[in-house]
Amino acid sequence: MLFDTHCHLSHPALNSRLPEVLAEAATQDVRRFLAPATGAEDWAAVAALGSAQIDIALGIHPWFVDGQPADALDKLAQYLHAHPKALVGEIGLDFHPNRRHHAAAQSACFEAQLQLAQSLQRPIVLHNLKADAACLAGIRRCGFTQGGFAHAFSGSLESAQAWLKLGFKIGIGSVLFKQNAQKLRRLATHLAWGDMVLETDAPFMPPTPDHPNQPCNTRRIAEIVAALRQSDWQTVAQHTTRNALMVVGRAA
Ligand SMILES: [Zn+2]
Repeated sequence: MLFDTHCHLSHPALNSRLPEVLAEAATQDVRRFLAPATGAEDWAAVAALGSAQIDIALGIHPWFVDGQPADALDKLAQYLHAHPKALVGEIGLDFHPNRRHHAAAQSACFEAQLQLAQSLQRPIVLHNLKADAACLAGIRRCGFTQGGFAHAFSGSLESAQAWLKLGFKIGIGSVLFKQNAQKLRRLATHLAWGDMVLETDAPFMPPTPDHPNQPCNTRRIAEIVAALRQSDWQTVAQHTTRNALMVVGRAA
């Protein structure tokens, strides 16, 4: 069984045809999902998805920090109390040149959510783009020790070590569909079996530009990882699903 640890099932492109999306995933043996939220506007929709098959994460994504209502953090705390198995996510820092000017607001929001996650003992779903050092500094400042998923990890094998030591699993995903993804290929080849999880980031990062990405593509990612490691997709499934279950099992 494969676990897609990052798919935006509340996104209209997937939510409008969810039964079909899940049925297609099942044909590829993708049977567990983690649906992260992006902000207050989709907490209700994401929370409603929670089930034995779909884990959820509730939080404020760094892109949407500015548009949140003034009481968003209080509301988030209420939601997390009401959903004791929810992780906190998708949270983090995005220092892409187009987003960097929001760095101070992003950091404040990230650290407030880290403190909430620590107080409730929930793992996080981390969005970290060009912000490795700042994310690590925030985690240390907040004394955050619950670990989680390092979603769409884009660092080197060496920089992954810091995250692994903090209890994170490294998210390997749809960037592997790009032929020139050398750094991620190296990571997917050399990480220990116990260190990685799979994710599509559906409906984003489609393998072919004209169709939205779907959780069923977790199977294709598993096959690419298997080829890199001279293994088979079932072995990749066994390890990555076990790793993912360990993390979601830390909540509640
Ligand atoms: Zn995401």
